[in-house]
Amino acid sequence: MIYDQILVRYGEISTKGRNRKAFTKKLRENILMVLKDLSAISISATRDRLHIYLNGEDGEKALSKLAGVFGIQSYSPVIKTEKEIEKIKEAALHLVQKMNTDGKTFKVSARRADKTFELDTNEINYAVGSHVLKNTGGLTVDVRNPDIKLNVEVRKEGTYLSSEIFQGAGGMPAGASGRAMLMLSGGLDSPVAGYLIMKRGVEIEAVHFHSPPFTSERAKQKVIDLAKELSVFSGRIKLHIVPFTEVQQTVHNQVPENYTMTSTRRMMLRITEKLREKQNGLGIVTGESLGQVASQTLESMLAINEVTSTPVLRPLISMDKLEIIEIAKQIGTHDISILPYEDCCTIFTPPAPKTKPKREKIQFYESFVDFEPLIDKAAADTEVLIIEGGALQMEADDLDELL
Ligand code: ATP
Ligand code: MG
Repeated sequence: MIYDQILVRYGEISTKGRNRKAFTKKLRENILMVLKDLSAISISATRDRLHIYLNGEDGEKALSKLAGVFGIQSYSPVIKTEKEIEKIKEAALHLVQKMNTDGKTFKVSARRADKTFELDTNEINYAVGSHVLKNTGGLTVDVRNPDIKLNVEVRKEGTYLSSEIFQGAGGMPAGASGRAMLMLSGGLDSPVAGYLIMKRGVEIEAVHFHSPPFTSERAKQKVIDLAKELSVFSGRIKLHIVPFTEVQQTVHNQVPENYTMTSTRRMMLRITEKLREKQNGLGIVTGESLGQVASQTLESMLAINEVTSTPVLRPLISMDKLEIIEIAKQIGTHDISILPYEDCCTIFTPPAPKTKPKREKIQFYESFVDFEPLIDKAAADTEVLIIEGGALQMEADDLDELL
């Protein structure tokens, strides 16, 4: 179907009063980023909606890409016409004729934001409805539960006709709530944590700890692929790959085996903290879920978390593994996460890590080495990749389910 624009309705952001302007600006930027392949499009924003003018670009492609953009409540492909009833009738017929109407029920639903328009809502419904019925075979009217609902909206600047409404991804535009560093392993949890926090409007930069030669190029590629899936929701993502081998080996040489996991996590957090400062982030996000593994007891978190006063956001903290897996499947990260390539933690994990590490002990063990220069070096040698071009790997039907 040839559309000339897509009408985007805001979600929560329209309720945010003073911040609305900033939110709308972010949403606009994010949409432009996601649709940047469609170079002719342009966007204009009004108080409560945003118009994406297609200017000849592929409407279907734009529709599928918009499905992942946070801050959109719903969106509809739209035909715009003048505020003349004859033009409106013509456009309505044009829209309906493009659909399969055989045996379908139908209803016109008019709204008149411009009260100066010559016809009232009922008269528009009647005029447009009878015109469409007269000229289309197989249609009957059902005002309660129609298969095809044709929305006609008369506004000051023109008349908008649409018949499909797609559910948006909801939430808030990525970046509207600031930026945070996502500690992204190759596992199932951290990509889901990233997705959920992005949905609350946080722009994510991913940080991955890589320990060559103990971890392979394939393990690194896996994280790149995960970041690519996450970029669907923001257009692009910065991925910081931290060379972690030296720090990790030093921990293993210095710290008793059952405390290495605790110490390794503290080092990761200290490095992430450096990167956060450099990137002007406001928080750190992890995929931790309470009680899931040894490092995810409250005692462990207390011992690990003390190295930073930055807010550590843990969106999965109370979730069950099955719930997490379900979301991972929906956002397209599941099948990548379950690939077997080991990450640095898997390889160095001791057979019996402390589930209730003591802060005083870990401080004591670490006190024999000055880790600060190693941490600085790891942060300084971090490789930065810009990941983009993710596409929702879903069929339209699955997409409907997710939304
Ligand atoms: P995930 O499924 O995200 O790997 P997990 O259940 O395996 O999590 P842990 O191995 O205890 O749990 O890791 C806890 C969190 O620490 C991860 O969710 C992630 O945020 C962070 N993390 C672990 N390993 C790495 C790594 N190599 N690089 C970056 N972050 C990591
Ligand atoms: Mg893991």
